[in-house]
Amino acid sequence: MASSTPITVAHGDGIGPEIMDATLKIIQEAGAKIDIETIEIGEKQYLKGNLAGIEPSAFESLRRTKVFLKAPITTPQGGGFKSLNVTTRKAFGLYANIRPCLSYDPFIRTKHPKMDVVIVRENEEDLYGGIEHRQTIDVMQCLKLISRPGTEKICRYAFEYARAYNRKKVTCFSKDNIMKLTDGLFHKVFDEIAAEYPDIENEHWIVDIGAAKLADTPEVFDVVVMPNLYGDILSDVAAQIAGSVGLAGSANIGDACAMFEAIHGSAPRRAGQNLANPSGLFLGAVQMLVHIGQASVAELAHNAWLKTIEDGVHTYDIFKEGISKEKVGTKEFAQAVLSRIGQKPQILKEVDYSKAPSRPLTTRPPYVRSSEVRERVGVDVFVAYTKSANSLAAILEPLGGDGMKLEMLSNRGMKVWPGGMEETFTVDVTRCRFKLPDEATGSVSAKAITALMDRITDAGVEFVKTEGLYNFDGKPGFTKSQGQ
Ligand code: NAD
Repeated sequence: MASSTPITVAHGDGIGPEIMDATLKIIQEAGAKIDIETIEIGEKQYLKGNLAGIEPSAFESLRRTKVFLKAPITTPQGGGFKSLNVTTRKAFGLYANIRPCLSYDPFIRTKHPKMDVVIVRENEEDLYGGIEHRQTIDVMQCLKLISRPGTEKICRYAFEYARAYNRKKVTCFSKDNIMKLTDGLFHKVFDEIAAEYPDIENEHWIVDIGAAKLADTPEVFDVVVMPNLYGDILSDVAAQIAGSVGLAGSANIGDACAMFEAIHGSAPRRAGQNLANPSGLFLGAVQMLVHIGQASVAELAHNAWLKTIEDGVHTYDIFKEGISKEKVGTKEFAQAVLSRIGQKPQILKEVDYSKAPSRPLTTRPPYVRSSEVRERVGVDVFVAYTKSANSLAAILEPLGGDGMKLEMLSNRGMKVWPGGMEETFTVDVTRCRFKLPDEATGSVSAKAITALMDRITDAGVEFVKTEGLYNFDGKPGFTKSQGQ
């Protein structure tokens, strides 16, 4: 057994302190060797004026211990407060969110008795960059970012996880039929990484039908990896249909640090009444014990918990007349688990963490940036404009230069010039594509773009932003508009 491992603990808000006490009691009495550093996060911090919900000094503790067991917090209503989860994930590079969603049939009611799915959610990119802008009176924008190194990391993590936990298949969900470049990259990288793991089956589903299948027939899935937003939504769906969101724990893994938590919130209405189910946080703590190399304690505690569930000792949220045997409070539930340490479930599958790896799961080959040649071939200029597309084109068409021509105008992604349709609904931002013709060779200088912007401004048209158009080894790094 390893010597004591320092961990940072936050008791959180609402039911947080009760479920944290119960969780720590179980794992410590099961033999966890941990040195606890306590930090304060959440409501009190927010109300003291720390908009991130955490004291800057608390980050020092996390930097030192690199392991964070976190109870849920209450985010006060009103503007200005930043999500502590998003801040922690990003600050510490916790790129992988792991949520096992398992059914405990017949002891906890579920329509999916054979369900045993692990959702691996990319945790840092996609629409969660918080890069949002109001462009005009009509339009808000949120930037979706998918990077190759970010995607390589998460896909590799999913396959390493599958191998380590003896799982047979990794499925990728994406929407690459619509988002050909962003989700297209996610899918492509998934296929590349999958080829390195011939021992594990792989497949890809478009996320809409994949989500429907997951909700209907989750037993066909094993490990499922996906970009941030789909993962956020579908991991809650998966946890709920497995039995209850109150039962799922979650790990947020980075190269240097890791954070473990329940997936539910602080349930303020249940606070202070010894009612809450500590299982979600407890199962997060079990993942933490494996992570810090105390797999045998994790196994002991987890098997005792399974036996408790099997014995029908249930908190109110999972208590069902006819299935459950005894309705207990938070403390009594923890006591029931403790009294079963050393026991194993008879019907539910017992856990075996003897081969589960600890921290090195994240080792991987270094990222090698490709040497593709990037050439500028034009610019998309987004302009604030409320009159007709034809009148805008009449102003802009003569302004091309340095080989660039006005190629098309689009509104909300739909081509409106040349040859737009009268029926197309438009808003007050139009994208104007100035580009070298497809058959042209060569590139456009940055100065040519700024000169173009000057001409547009001098013509009295107001641009709200630009996006460079680049070819990579001659292949366009941008999509055509719908209808183009
Ligand atoms: P919630 O998850 O707190 O509660 C949803 C429902 O589930 C409630 O009926 C609640 O009583 C029940 N519930 C949740 N956990 C339970 C448990 N362990 N045992 C028994 N019943 C449980 O979601 P909410 O009500 O939407 O949010 C409450 C607060 O929690 C909000 O301030 C929200 O911002 C915050 N929140 C925090 C986190 C986090 O810290 N990770 C996550 C989600 C929500």
